[in-house]
Amino acid sequence: MLLGNLRKDICQYSQKMLIDKLVVGPFGNISAREGDMITITPSGMDYEDLEPEDIVVLDLGGRSIEGDLKPSSELAMHTYIYEARPDIQAIVHTHSTYATALACLGRGIPVFHYVVVLLGGAIPLARYATYGTKALAENVLNALGKTHKVAILENHGAIAVDKTVKEAYQSAVVLEHVAEIYLKAQAIGEPTILSPHQIEEVKRQFKSYGQAKPKS
Ligand SMILES: [Zn+2]
Repeated sequence: MLLGNLRKDICQYSQKMLIDKLVVGPFGNISAREGDMITITPSGMDYEDLEPEDIVVLDLGGRSIEGDLKPSSELAMHTYIYEARPDIQAIVHTHSTYATALACLGRGIPVFHYVVVLLGGAIPLARYATYGTKALAENVLNALGKTHKVAILENHGAIAVDKTVKEAYQSAVVLEHVAEIYLKAQAIGEPTILSPHQIEEVKRQFKSYGQAKPKS
């Protein structure tokens, strides 16, 4: 089976996406790339029933290489991002509740909490276009630019991109977390925004965050 490990990852995280309530029903999609090939969730299938063989393999032009099912209806959005961002190897697209609530208000998220800095800075809003279209793919790519790890899709949902399915998935979870805090804080007042100096301090601090890998 081509791209077997990536297809297993996608299958596992698709089911997790449902359990973690980042999507309902068949909405949302996950893809990963290796070389000139991408592998993506099939269109309109319940995630509970997914098997690695169901995850479709295509070239970057969207031509089928392996798998009998039709690829996700958002294939163009995925291939567009892979072509423009060589640093990206995995994409997770969700309709998570709080991020999508902001999407329906036409709002991104400012740097009101230091964790937003770790997602690449103020979270951009990709302008609305019909799902599955090239216009939406262009709007999402414009919003992500060259550095953002996440974006909110106006009147639609959210997207997270990274080097692995696991990392992109984590960013999707963190995005939903900050979206929830932002909406709850806004229900009471206007959240304070970090200053450029405070943001720089977070970036400096982040360089020394986490566990150093033990030397073998
Ligand atoms: Zn969607």
